[in-house]
Order: sequence, then C-alpha cells, then structure tokens
Amino acid sequence: MKKLVLASNNLKKIKEIKEILSGLEFEVYSLNDMGIDIEVVEDGTTFEENARKKAIEIYDYLKEKGENDFLVLSDDSGLEVDCLNGAPGVYSARYAGEHGNDYENNIKLLKEMKNADSKDRSARFVCVIALVNENRNVELIRGEVEGVIIEELKTKGGFGYDPLFYYPQFNKTFGEATSEEKNSVSHRGKALEKLKSILEIHYCK
Ligand code: IMP
Repeated sequence: MKKLVLASNNLKKIKEIKEILSGLEFEVYSLNDMGIDIEVVEDGTTFEENARKKAIEIYDYLKEKGENDFLVLSDDSGLEVDCLNGAPGVYSARYAGEHGNDYENNIKLLKEMKNADSKDRSARFVCVIALVNENRNVELIRGEVEGVIIEELKTKGGFGYDPLFYYPQFNKTFGEATSEEKNSVSHRGKALEKLKSILEIHYCK
C-alpha cells in the first residue's frame, strides 16, 4: 500500500483527514508516526505558499532519509474578512500575537470590526491543501465557505474563529453547529472531498 504522510501533528486535523480518506488504499501517517520533529516556518504571504512549503520540506526530508514511493499532504487555513481587506488571513492563528490563543484572536477581531455594520461583516474560511507526488510535483486544492462575523462572542464551541462565524444556511455559528454539520459545508471538508477524488482518480488502481 502507498504511504500518505500528513505534514501535521494537529490531532484534530489528522483525525478528520484519516476519516475522510479511510476508504482509500493508503497507509496514512502523521509526522509523529514517522518520527519527524520538524517545525516548518510558515512565512508565506498566501495559504498556497505556506501549504506548498510545508509539504515540500517534509517531502525533501523523507527523500533524504531514503524513503521512496510516498505522497505528502499539508494544509494551511484561515479566515478572510472583507472589510479588513482579507485579514487575518495567513496570520489567523497568531492574529493577537500568541500562536493559537483562540479567545484573544476572537476579541481582537471584534475590536478591529467594531465600526463595521451588519451588512459589512462578510467573511470566508479558506483551506488550501498541497499534495506532493512521487515526482515532487505539487497539486494545490482550495476549499472555501462564506459566512458573516457576528458582533459579540456568545458561545465557546468549536475552535479558532468558529464562535464568531455565522453560517446563514444553518442559522447558527460554526461554534454552535455539530462537527458533522460543519464538516459537510466547511472549507476543510470541501478541500478534503476534492482531494479524495484526485487520489481516487490518479493514485488508486
Ligand atoms: P493552521 O491552518 O493550522 O495554520 O491554522 C490557521 C488558523 O485559522 C487556526 O488557528 C484558526 O484560528 C483559523 N481556522 C482555520 N480553520 C478554522 C476553522 O475551521 N474554524 C475556526 N478557525 C479556523
């Protein structure tokens, strides 16, 4: 069976990716599974640049170690708010300074948007997946979901900006949605479904 290495140690992401790809003929490994302890610096200015960089660095590392016949997959994601010209964008995880402090990031976002009225609060989550094949060719796959940033932090569900991201079709925020509901429409869910089709068509017998 072909190896698929996920350039991540984020347990939530790994679980979701493994679930979606479970029917395919791949052995799926995280960086931990492969004994890889590399922190790739995410210094790109687009989701595409960051996703590509992560996947290529891991690919090159594995090649150097003598691994063969494997694919590498990475993703980069974030929130783009229209009235903030696309911010926080690639800086979503560290918007308030400290990497991954969801509460502080949400508070900062509300502050930056305090003068935006209700018709001016459109936003989208973006997820870009990079897939590196055996020949070091990179394929980029993008998924997006449109929503509206609400005016105050009410619930705590989900992670990241989920509590502020209102999805009109559900009439609730991603923080209030179940994970099944969210995954069925989310940026990551869409990108992963596209990835699954690509893997089925090009990499499975
Ligand atoms: P990364 O893709 O791990 O670099 O994370 C990007 C950041 O974007 C996360 O730390 C969150 O702040 C935000 N983000 C990405 N996807 C989601 C989501 O599905 N819900 C809420 N926040 C998200």
